[in-house]
Amino acid sequence: ADESVAELVASRLRDIPDFPKPGVLFKDFTPLIADGPALGALVRDIADRYRDRVDVIVGIEARGFILGAAVAYELGLGMVPVRKAGKLPGETLRESYALEYGTAEIEVHNDAFEVGQRVLVIDDVLATGGTAEAACSLVERAGAEVAAIEVVLELAFLDGRSRLGDRTVNAILTV
Ligand code: AMP
Repeated sequence: ADESVAELVASRLRDIPDFPKPGVLFKDFTPLIADGPALGALVRDIADRYRDRVDVIVGIEARGFILGAAVAYELGLGMVPVRKAGKLPGETLRESYALEYGTAEIEVHNDAFEVGQRVLVIDDVLATGGTAEAACSLVERAGAEVAAIEVVLELAFLDGRSRLGDRTVNAILTV
């Protein structure tokens, strides 16, 4: 039988203890995207879920850019980057959100969407959900609608979904 996409992903995520700081088990997806057949299977799996259901892809900096661009290309759609504050050159909308220590800020160009566009938001890991929630708020403030949030891996014990309200969340793999 074919290796399922979840099994492919599970076998190609690498755990790095204590990165970027002590106590964090970092889920490194570079082995997954370095593997051509695995990357292809992952991208097609995501794209097939949203074909004809979304108008544009949002990729969250930085690993969401890699997957987001590939999924957008597979669907014949465009990709909009959501970036850390200060990186986008044009006029932006900005959202702040709480981290364990301090706050983070992300931005999107304020003319990135057309009103009512259906957006698929993509990132690698859903942890506390703060980043995804802020990205969704930016999309909605810009006049578009979040059709779904797609992540490769959900860390369910951090309950990121609860921060995302009624929005549709799909994770290829949940731990
Ligand atoms: P959060 O806002 O807590 O959901 O964190 C999500 C962002 O941080 C995503 O962009 C992830 O790429 C990254 N992230 C958080 N925790 C991890 C982890 N354990 N391994 C890899 N990336 C993580």
